[in-house]
Amino acid sequence: FFLAFEGGDGSGKTTQATLLADWLTQRGHEVVVTREPGGTATGRELREVLLSHRGDASPLSPRAEALLFAADRAQHVAEVVQPGLRRGAVVLTDRYVDSSLAYQGAGRDLPASEVETLSTWATQGLLPDLTVVLDVDPVTAAQRRAGRAAEDRMEAESRAFHARVREQFLLLAGRDPRRYLVLDATTSPETVHAKLREHLEPLLPA
Ligand code: C5P
Ligand code: MG
Repeated sequence: FFLAFEGGDGSGKTTQATLLADWLTQRGHEVVVTREPGGTATGRELREVLLSHRGDASPLSPRAEALLFAADRAQHVAEVVQPGLRRGAVVLTDRYVDSSLAYQGAGRDLPASEVETLSTWATQGLLPDLTVVLDVDPVTAAQRRAGRAAEDRMEAESRAFHARVREQFLLLAGRDPRRYLVLDATTSPETVHAKLREHLEPLLPA
């Protein structure tokens, strides 16, 4: 079973992945918790490139950025996601294809269909069984981002950028409601986790 957490910066993806992993492990599942960008050794090198050029004198062009995220994803699928799924593990990823559709597509204004083609090529078409969109209103999201550590140099983006990203996640979820769960992530982590468990229970393999 393959589950992706998506949502803006500060929406609680990492927290929810950890809570869900604990619950699944207690129920006897093998769980792989992973992330993009940076779910592999190569991916961590790519992540460093992606993060370090934000806001400096030679920012990555939108297309170069999209290609590096796609490279990270291709490596991630080949090295972590596919092997995990083949073993029968539950794979939880903190971000996946929809982050590229939202950030590189809607955010950076590349044609969404082209970003989608690139991602499909990178993943060989592998899609999550369930994508959980953790949705936060723009004001709460901005407050949470403001409290973040220095690694988040990608935080220099404007409010309009983050608004486009959020709208894109909601649009994707609305397009395919059976494969998506949108949760209000302004409530407590425990509340979000409980709703997710309730939704997931009937979907999980025995
Ligand atoms: O979620 P995480 O903190 O690991 O993401 C690092 C940064 O990369 C974030 O600021 C996020 O907005 C950005 N990002 C992006 N495009 C993606 C994935 C992440 O711009 N496809
Ligand atoms: Mg995170």
